[in-house]
Amino acid sequence: MPFTKLGLSDPLLRAIADAGYTTPSPIQQQVIPAVLQGHDLLAAAQTGTGKTAGFALPLLHRLSQKHFSSNRPVRVLILTPTRELAAQVGESVSQYGAHLHPRLKTEVVFGGVKINPQMMRLRGGVDVLVATPGRLLDLVNQNAVKLDKVESLVLDEADRMLDMGFIRDIKKIISLLPRKRQNLLFSATFSEEIRKLTTGLLINPIKIEVAPRNTAAETVEQIAYLCNKTQKADLLCHLIKSNQWSQVLVFTSTKHGANRLTEKLNKIDIKAAAIHGNKSQGARTSALSGFKAGQVRVLVATDVAARGIDIALLPYVVNYELPRSSADYVHRIGRTGRAGEEGQAISLVSHDELGSLKQVEKLIGTAIRREQIVGFEADAVAPPLPPEPPRPPRQPRSIRAVKPQAKQVSNYEENVGKANGHSKNRSNDKVRSVNSGNKAKKSGNRRSEGG
Ligand code: AMP
Repeated sequence: MPFTKLGLSDPLLRAIADAGYTTPSPIQQQVIPAVLQGHDLLAAAQTGTGKTAGFALPLLHRLSQKHFSSNRPVRVLILTPTRELAAQVGESVSQYGAHLHPRLKTEVVFGGVKINPQMMRLRGGVDVLVATPGRLLDLVNQNAVKLDKVESLVLDEADRMLDMGFIRDIKKIISLLPRKRQNLLFSATFSEEIRKLTTGLLINPIKIEVAPRNTAAETVEQIAYLCNKTQKADLLCHLIKSNQWSQVLVFTSTKHGANRLTEKLNKIDIKAAAIHGNKSQGARTSALSGFKAGQVRVLVATDVAARGIDIALLPYVVNYELPRSSADYVHRIGRTGRAGEEGQAISLVSHDELGSLKQVEKLIGTAIRREQIVGFEADAVAPPLPPEPPRPPRQPRSIRAVKPQAKQVSNYEENVGKANGHSKNRSNDKVRSVNSGNKAKKSGNRRSEGG
């Protein structure tokens, strides 16, 4: 089905053509007509499916059809969990609305930066407001914005907003909205908490689920390199250099770990920058824009900071450490293989993480191919770790690393036993396969990081 059949206005179709989109993605085919008709929506949207255009295009269409009053009250409110996602959604909305006449005004507000310039920008009124919940409430409390004329509310990545402890803020914001309005909720997963939130919020919602829950994009090739924990940094450097990766997003489980890895990469002339909740908003923005522009080769990120990051054609994502929650694995690898492009998701898995790897496989419903790189093979038993270098003073609400589990080590010994037997005949292979999992093409607080 072409975009022209969806009922969007010509200025929006021109913007779609400018963006280079030729056909609507599966979620867009379902979401756009439903939103145009004014329905409430409960959408299970895989990351990278084009959900932003899915809700932004029809909302802009509806907004531009109605005459607006001169004081421009907020008519579309989009809530996102993180600053980066807010900024990205704001950019997309402006891009899609570029040919509308009269122009609609879009503003983005999030925490971690001065509030005054945001208050100034809101003064002349805005049509579409993209916000993180905490900062929006601060602005409401300072009378910088009113929400009593909101016609459509979007909760983007609602599961993550709840994970980040925004439930009270969201409820407060909802209490400030007019009773009669359209509600769109997008979430990668549906927990009990999400179900509770939707009760009373959504009225006869249309339910849309384009990909089975907890699956990764089919175009993402997934590999787990088994290695010693102590060798992860060297293995990563080796992979970047030998494969000549020019743009790679690396996930660490702690902010401190992200800093250490970034320093190490920079020391050996691999230009890297870190993005996490202890970084100033300025540093986060410049790291991300440097990465997008190709000046920064490696972006090292924690889960929350990286939420929603969208870089066109991002080819490689590395899990330097597996995430604490398996659902985060799906989010992480969703940074690559976006909108049908090919991508590779590589996990560096040490002895203590084999249990987590199995949990991920259980969630995504497929085996991840295990390999070892010659020179960086995992020992049969986890080698002792060197003493930790001194840490800077602990920040409040920092993310703790996963505790090693003894059981995983014994699992690992089994695997390595097999691998050692296997590799005798193939000692010259650059890459050794450890088990014969199918090529896995298919699968499945922190307000300091948000806003
Ligand atoms: P999202 O899931 O909204 O973060 O979008 C993921 C990426 O897909 C973004 O880079 C969009 O620009 C891109 N995109 C959205 N819709 C389409 C489409 N119909 N065709 C090609 N790319 C798209």
